[in-house]
This record gives sequence, structure tokens and C-alpha cells, in this order.
Amino acid sequence: MTDFDVIVAGGGPVGTVAGYALAEAGLKVLVVESDSHPVEDLRASTFHPPSLEMLDRLGVLDEMLPMGLKAPVYQYRIRQTGEVLAFDLGELADATPFPFRLQCEQWKLSRLLAQRLAAHGNGEIRFSRRVVHFSQDSDGVSVALEAPTAIEQLRCRYLVAADGANSIVRKWLGVEFDGFTYPEKFLCLSTTLPLEQHFERLAYVNYVADPADWHVLLRVPSLWRVLVSADEATSDTELKSDANKDAIFGRLLGQDVPVDTVHRTIYRVHQRVARRYDHGRVLLIGDAAHLNNPLGGLGMNSGIHDAINLADKLAKIVLEGAAPDPQLGQFDRQRRTVMHNFIQAQTIANKKLMEASDPVARENYYAGMRAVNTDKDKRRDYLYNQAMFKSLDDAAAIA
Ligand SMILES: Cc1cc2nc3c(=O)[nH]c(=O)nc-3n(C[C@H](O)[C@H](O)[C@H](O)COP(=O)(O)OP(=O)(O)OC[C@H]3O[C@@H](n4cnc5c(N)ncnc54)[C@H](O)[C@@H]3O)c2cc1C
Repeated sequence: MTDFDVIVAGGGPVGTVAGYALAEAGLKVLVVESDSHPVEDLRASTFHPPSLEMLDRLGVLDEMLPMGLKAPVYQYRIRQTGEVLAFDLGELADATPFPFRLQCEQWKLSRLLAQRLAAHGNGEIRFSRRVVHFSQDSDGVSVALEAPTAIEQLRCRYLVAADGANSIVRKWLGVEFDGFTYPEKFLCLSTTLPLEQHFERLAYVNYVADPADWHVLLRVPSLWRVLVSADEATSDTELKSDANKDAIFGRLLGQDVPVDTVHRTIYRVHQRVARRYDHGRVLLIGDAAHLNNPLGGLGMNSGIHDAINLADKLAKIVLEGAAPDPQLGQFDRQRRTVMHNFIQAQTIANKKLMEASDPVARENYYAGMRAVNTDKDKRRDYLYNQAMFKSLDDAAAIA
């Protein structure tokens, strides 16, 4: 006897997409979130076109679009030469109804889907519930949840782990999380200062390559976000200090302008992939399954692609009686292969381009980007690849 077809651990963007897609497909699903409300997390801010198509198919895009900014153009800027290499997703208008990135805080999606789940006939979301343990057998999974005053025991057919980078489900499974952690920290400062008044032709998404001081300038509706790398040896207190904030904006703007910040957040950044995503009746998706640096905005988007892929397969198993192992094995092969071949490779390459200090390597990177930017066919391939369409084509071709 099971309480739910699927329990999803984690009510972040990936867990709520998985939960909502499963509920819409007709499965009885519960999403459990350890926090007491949808976490207002200012990490991901870019939704790529294929993710927008998926959200459209789920019927939530119409509500999402007004919450963000359409960003058809993103830029690579070479700080030393002042060059601006602009890439316009409008060139993919024949391939997608949404030829732009949506700049929108990730928590707006989690919050919207939490509301939708709460009102859904097949779905439910419970807050202040932390998955603390589970065990699986041939019939299902027993899940223990820590609630404010008790441990609750539930039974489901499948447990989906979308419980983020520190996933307790992944840890209980004992699955290797292969990869590495960057030595430096990443510091993200957000401000209401209108940066577009300080730089010419600034887009909503700007990657600024500089061997000494690379940075990313990202716009969300109410804020500019400035992402920089920070020395590992410097304490978090020092990194978040006014003195450091003033130094960063001084270098960025080339003048002393008083800048107020709304957030100052430090991240440790990893490139890691779980050795396997399918573990019997327990499946890993999103940050629980893989981590990468934020250059390119691929982490949450790839998690959303995991969620949609897995929801499709679980629906076939639960509703149509498809054999579980081939479906779930294919989910693992499809999603893990593109994670290694595209997302890990691309984000590592993006960081190398941004920070390249060896003059020869640096000039090679820049020459490569210029060549792509000025050739129509290469530019289109690049846009299609960076927008993650190719990774989905590649995944679909994996049996
Ligand atoms: C600075 C920065 C910028 C980024 N920008 C982008 C971007 O523009 N585009 C992009 O695609 N990606 C981006 N990312 C990556 C993105 O933020 C993550 O990939 C994304 O948040 C992963 O979503 P998730 O739902 O898998 O995990 P999370 O967002 O971490 O959500 C996990 C949820 O699970 C809950 N939880 C944890 N443990 C338990 C438990 N035991 N039981 C129940 N609930 C639990 C947590 O409270 C949390 O709400 C960025 C990352 C950083 C650091």
C-alpha cells in the first residue's frame, strides 16, 4: 500500500518542476521541502529557450514571462581591448517560439509551482518536512520525514531526489560524486545602481573576460548582479565587507561611486557528477545529481531538463505499465551523458575563457570567439549549442 506514486525531496526549481510535471501527467505526487516556505534564492537567473518551451508545455510560462526580462542578446566583452561580441538569440527565431533568455529569479518559478501544486488534484506540497531517511524494497520506498514535532513515515513507489547540492538522498545511496571543487570562491553582489548608465550598450547578460578581474554582469527585474571570483584565503567576513565591495565597484566603474548592495553572497563552486542517477526506485535530478560553475547559466536549466525527462519516463511506468529498468536506465544514460559531454565541458571552458592569463592561450580563446561571432553559420551553431538545444537533441538520440 503506497501513499503516493512519487515523493519528490526538495521544493527548489527542479523539484517543483518534477512534481508539477508528474501531477499534470496524472500521478499522485508529494513534494516535500525542508524550509517553511519556497526558498527565496538568488542563484539562477537565466532560463534558456528550451526550458521556456518545457514550462510552456506545462502551462506556466504565461505567468512566468511577466515576472522576468526578455534577453535576446548576451555579450562577451574582452575587457583589455574593449571589444563587445554580441550574440542575438533572435537568429534562432525559426527554431523556437522563445528566441531569448528569460532573466528571472529561480525562486519565482519555485513559488509559482508550489502554489500550483497546492491547488492541484493530483499534487501536494508540504513545507517544514525534511527527508531524513529512506529504504527501498521490491514494492516501493519508505520515506522518513522530519516534521516540526514528529517523524512522519510515508510510502511511495518512487523517490525523486531534488534536494540540492548536499542531497541527503545521494549521501544515503553512497553514490560517488566525482569531480572537483574550484579553489577560489565566487562572490555575488547585487545592487539597484543602474549599471547600464555606466557602460555603453550593456545587455542584460554580459560575460567580461579579463585575466586579472573577470566578472559577469546580470540583470534581473529589480537588480543588477555582479559575479566575481574571490581569493580562497580571504575570510568571508572580509569578502563581504564594505571595503571589498567598494574596491570591486571602484575597479568595475573606474571611479568612486557610492554603491549600495542588496545582497552579498559567497558560493563554493564545484564541477561534480553523480556516478549514476538511477538507483532502483530512487532517482537523482538537479543539483543532487550534478554541479557546475554558473558561467553560461546551465545548472538549473539542465536540472529542469532532467525533471521533464524523468517525469515522462515515470508516467510511462506508472500509468502505462512500461518496464521500469529500461526507462530509468535510459533516463540515466541520456541525462548523465549530456551532463558530461556538454554541461561540464562547456562550463569549464567558459571559465577558462573568462580568466585566461597566458597571453598565447588567451589570444587563441579570443580569436576563436571573434571567428564564431563574425561567421553567420558558426554563430548560429554556437547559439543553438549554448541555448542547450543541441544537448537535448543529443540526449534524445541516446537509446
Ligand atoms: C551564483 C549562481 C548563479 C547561478 N545562475 C544560474 C543560472 O543563471 N542558470 C542556471 O541554470 N543555473 C544557475 N545556477 C545554478 C542553480 O542555482 C542550481 O543549479 C539550482 O538551484 C538547482 O536547483 P535544485 O532544485 O536542483 O536545487 P536547489 O535549488 O538547491 O533546491 C533544493 C531544495 O531542496 C531543499 N532540501 C534540501 N534538503 C532537503 C531534504 N533533506 N528534505 C527536503 N527538502 C530538502 C532545499 O531547502 C531546497 O529548497 C547558479 C548558481 C549560482 C551559485
